[in-house]
This record gives sequence, structure tokens and C-alpha cells, in this order.
Amino acid sequence: MMVEIDPLFQITTACVCCEKTFQTSRVRPSFKHAVRRDADFCAYYKNENPDFYVVRVCPHCGFASTENSAAKLSDPQRKAFEEKVGAASKKKDYGGKRSLEDALDTYKLALICAQVVRDKERIIASLLHHIAWLYRYGKNEEQERRFIGYARDSYVRVYETENAGPSDARLMYLIGELCRRLDEFNEAVRWFSRVIHDQRIMDAAMIRASREQWATLREDMLARKMELPEEMQQS
Ligand SMILES: [Zn+2]
Repeated sequence: MMVEIDPLFQITTACVCCEKTFQTSRVRPSFKHAVRRDADFCAYYKNENPDFYVVRVCPHCGFASTENSAAKLSDPQRKAFEEKVGAASKKKDYGGKRSLEDALDTYKLALICAQVVRDKERIIASLLHHIAWLYRYGKNEEQERRFIGYARDSYVRVYETENAGPSDARLMYLIGELCRRLDEFNEAVRWFSRVIHDQRIMDAAMIRASREQWATLREDMLARKMELPEEMQQS
């Protein structure tokens, strides 16, 4: 007889806001292999999607965070959450298996919490990008595009404010790829070109990905009979 292994297991975690403990589900590492990925790293899985379980929602106070959020809130942050969100939140238990809609709810909660406590822009950008992916899984193109736009703007703020500079090829590639998905072709070319031509960039995987998407973009622009920017005209 085959024993079915539940892809989910429970962990106990402490809330970064009220410090009470609660249980949340994780996907077993053996189930975390993605069957494919989109060019902006959106991953597809045969079984449970580990991304559905990234956000931990405290059933006691309603605060939602991820492993990358602050380990503990400061008093002003806690106060901001209690005043702006705490009382209004429904405090639903997301500890078990999550549907796509549940996952979307948890990411939106995490986004609100991150904005209220003024978490790092990098975290906010990642939450916005994940929300776009969830809409992509659900084939809601309009909402996906909306959140791709928010994520792109947020990643640009990360680039500008955190002095990411040439060391962060992945960030520049992502901004280019999200611009491409928004049909902002000239902007996309600009970001991919930076990754390809900046001699200080050593990230071979991101240089290769930028070249590939640059070529895809060139074909799309030719197919739409658009005028190619100067840097794309040769070759
Ligand atoms: Zn809590």
C-alpha cells in the first residue's frame, strides 16, 4: 500500500507583533521542485505551491509577515498597526491548507501590514510581485498587470534608494522584464542593456537572461513594426 505523504507540515512560530505563538503550514522541501518558471521567476509546481505559505498570519492579532520581515516590531510600529489595521482585521485562521484565494488574502494582509509599519521597500516590492503572480495563476490578466506595474515602480524605488547599483543585476533584470510585460519596450531595453553592457556585472545567469529577453523584445518590436532604439538596430 502506498502511503500518501502530505506535502504540508506545521511549524509553530511567534508573532512579530503580539508575540503570541501560532501554527502555520509549510511545504516539505521534497515537494519544492518547480516544474517551470516564467522569465520573471514566477514558479509552477506539480503539488502545493510553497509560495502560498510564505505569509504567516497571526490568528490572535491579525498581523501578517514573512520570514524576511522584521523579527520584532518596535513600539511605534505596533501602535501604527493596532490603530490602522488591528481592530478592523477579521483574524481568520490561515494555519491549514490554503486555496489560491486564501493565499491572495494573506499576501494582501502582509502588504497592508508592511505598508503600515513602513517595512523595507524590497519587502513591499516582493509582496506586490507575488500578488501579481497569484493573479497570473488565476488568469486574471487585468489585476496581474496592475500589480506588475506596482511591483515595477516599487523595484525602481529599491534601485534608487537602496543604492543597489551594478551589484544587483537580478534587480535590474527584473525591472526590465516587468517593463517588457507592461509593453514599455524602450524602458525594458534600457534595463536589459545595463545588465548586458556594464563591465562590473559578473552575474552570468542574469547577463544571459537579459540577452534572451532583449532578443525576445527585438522580435516583438519588429513584429509590431515598431521603430527600434539605436542600440538595437545593429545585429
Ligand atoms: Zn499576533
